[in-house]
Amino acid sequence: MTVKEDERKLHLEMGKIIYGPVPSRRFGPSLGINPLPLNKKSCSFNCVYCQLGVTNNPIMNPMDLENYPSTDVIMRAFKDRLRRIDPSKINVITFSGNGEPTLNPELREIIRGIREILDELNLDVPIQILTNSSLFHLPMVREALKEFDYVIAKLDTVDQRCFLSLNRPIAEMNISDIIKWIKFLRGEIGERLIIQSMIIDSDRMELKNYREEVISKFLDVVEEIDPALVQLYTLDRPPSEPDVYRVPRGMLLGIASRLRARLGEERVMVYY
Ligand code: SF4
Repeated sequence: MTVKEDERKLHLEMGKIIYGPVPSRRFGPSLGINPLPLNKKSCSFNCVYCQLGVTNNPIMNPMDLENYPSTDVIMRAFKDRLRRIDPSKINVITFSGNGEPTLNPELREIIRGIREILDELNLDVPIQILTNSSLFHLPMVREALKEFDYVIAKLDTVDQRCFLSLNRPIAEMNISDIIKWIKFLRGEIGERLIIQSMIIDSDRMELKNYREEVISKFLDVVEEIDPALVQLYTLDRPPSEPDVYRVPRGMLLGIASRLRARLGEERVMVYY
C-alpha cells in the first residue's frame, strides 16, 4: 500500500471514529467519539434492547481489547472533524460508539488529548461518557473516568434476575457488585455522576424492569447512590430482540415522580 493509500484508509477509518454532530434527544447536538474497534461491537454486556445488535466481540477487560484506535489516531480524527464543522454549534462531546467505551485501555490519554485540543482552540465544551458501569472495579477505568465532566452510568435494574435477562453480561457478574462500585465512583467524582436507566416492556416477565417488586428496590438504590441526575428513557430505535417494546410515557412519568419525591424535582429527567 502506498503512503497516499495508507493516508486515505486512515482518513476513512477516522471518519467513523468521530461521528456527528448528531441531534441527541438527551444532549442536543453532540459530537461523538468512538474509541472502540470499527466494524464490530465490543462490550461486556449484550443488552436485549441494544441498537447495535449482538455483541460479537465480548470483552471484560481493557487489556484484552485488540485493534482499537490509538490516542494519536483519535486526536488526529478529532482535529480533522473540528476543522470541518462549526464547533460553536456543539453542546457536548460524547464518548460512546461501538460498545462499551471504557474498554479502550488508552482512555485516560485520549480524554486528556481531547481536552488539550479544546483548550488550544479556546473551546469550552463539556466532555461526557456513556458507560454500562460494569468495569468500575478496575482502577485504570476509574482513573480515566475522573477526567470526564460527566460520567453517565447505566443502571437499568438492581434485581439480579432482571439484570441477567436484560443486560445479559458476557461473563458471571453480580448487579450488587456493580452497584457497590457505582457508589464508590460517586464518592470519587461526586456531582459528575449521572445515572441512566432504560425502562422497557416485553412479552417476557423477567425483562419488565418496571414491575413493582423490581422498581421499588431500584428507587431505594438510586436514592442511596445519590447521583447528580437520573435520566429515564425507553426504546427509541429498533432493539436487537423483537419482543422488547417501549413503555408508555405515563409509566416513565410515574417512575420519575417517585424518584423526584426522593431526590428533588431538578434531579430527574424523562426522555420519551
Ligand atoms: S451496554 Fe450499551 S453497547 Fe453494550 S450491549 Fe448494552 S446497550 Fe449495547
